Amino acid sequence: MQYKFNGGVHPFTFKSLASDRPIKKPFIPKKVVLPLLQHTGSPAEPVVAVGDTVKAGDLIAKPSGYISSAVHASVSGKVARMAYFSTYNQPRVLSVVIETDADAEQDFRMKPAGDPDTLSREEMIGRIRAAGVVGLGGAGFPTDVKLSPPANKPVDTVILNGAECEPYLTCDHRLMLEKTKEILKGLDIIVRILGAKQAYIAIENNKLSAIYAMEKALKQYSFRSLKTAKVISLNEKYPQGAEKQIIKVILNRVVPAGGLPMDVGCVANNVGTAYAVYEAVYFNKPLIERAITITGKCVKDPLNIWVRMGTLLSDLKGVFGGFTAEPGKVIMGGPMMGIAQYSMDVPISKGVGGIVFLTQEEIDPGRESVCIRCGRCMDACPIGLVPTTLMYRVKKENFSEAKELGIMNCYECGACAYTCPAKIPLVDYMKFGKARNQVI
Ligand code: SF4
Ligand code: SF4
Repeated sequence: MQYKFNGGVHPFTFKSLASDRPIKKPFIPKKVVLPLLQHTGSPAEPVVAVGDTVKAGDLIAKPSGYISSAVHASVSGKVARMAYFSTYNQPRVLSVVIETDADAEQDFRMKPAGDPDTLSREEMIGRIRAAGVVGLGGAGFPTDVKLSPPANKPVDTVILNGAECEPYLTCDHRLMLEKTKEILKGLDIIVRILGAKQAYIAIENNKLSAIYAMEKALKQYSFRSLKTAKVISLNEKYPQGAEKQIIKVILNRVVPAGGLPMDVGCVANNVGTAYAVYEAVYFNKPLIERAITITGKCVKDPLNIWVRMGTLLSDLKGVFGGFTAEPGKVIMGGPMMGIAQYSMDVPISKGVGGIVFLTQEEIDPGRESVCIRCGRCMDACPIGLVPTTLMYRVKKENFSEAKELGIMNCYECGACAYTCPAKIPLVDYMKFGKARNQVI
């Protein structure tokens, strides 16, 4: 089966709530909870013990395999305990709790780590791995692994993904405005590591200021191994920022079902990841903080902010000023693909790009009724699945047939459920059908 790239939906974005808010400096929480699994792959192995003193940026857990990633102390302080905590997407993850030392230096000292132009490909990858950089677009795949394709899968194209198609989220937009040159330096490193021949920076046209900033910066920037990169202005459409979708849109290449972008000679990285790559290679800076958006119609002071990894959501309440009305739901990530939380005591981890508080009216889906066979979900699905048929297979517990019909390729974008006039929670059926197929 091959993907079909039509479909998509046009939800109202509400990005103006926070898009003009520069990314605020982080406040330092009294403690952080650092999950040892903030990435795709196996959890990191702790290298500290309870009672140890650590500085911001110190390694606290090393990768436990090839597809794994390091975790670093995000504040200076004392390791208070190690215990299992819920994260935004996992029920139980071994985590290191660090109590912050109020008298200690909390910033990572940004010392230039030599001339990056003299580094070999392996040295650059080594720095990215040592810094625990993972994809910041949500998937959390270790970046060093992504940048190490096997010899039989050469990569000729790099796409920098600044689409940020999820409603409400604006931290990538701000990052492109505030760290434009640094992102280009990160892109330059990625291009050099992969030996790519062309690079594109993809931005949706609801972020004209970012398109302008990138184009302007490109005119003044000299890549080491490329003439230049090209900014692509994309029409606004959800889920255009999904990796396979953006590759089809820009390169007209179709990543096969179950395959990877490198199968079609391409690698796509989020703009935040490129920034983290820059910091890792130029300064040996570990991934201890990231930009996120905290927003929603019921939030008093929506904003973008640098947050230390492991900061509890409950500790951030002070920075966004509380609520104008009781929120109906809190979502880690965007409202389309993010995950609803049942507690405010969840730590921010590497894959979290935003916290969205939805109002009661926004979460009220209305009464679910029967499928009226309108076909809208089919038109919306970006990979050509037939969600209504899959939903009926799952309802009848016919999981193997759902698998044959492609349910495992669903990447839970939510476009089908968004468009369904019968208010059927189609994504829940997809998730359930996929999970059952994994255990059968
Ligand atoms: S959630 Fe799955 S089935 Fe629904 S539109 Fe997205 S990819 Fe298609
Ligand atoms: S959009 Fe909803 S009502 Fe229409 S065919 Fe799909 S499941 Fe049925």
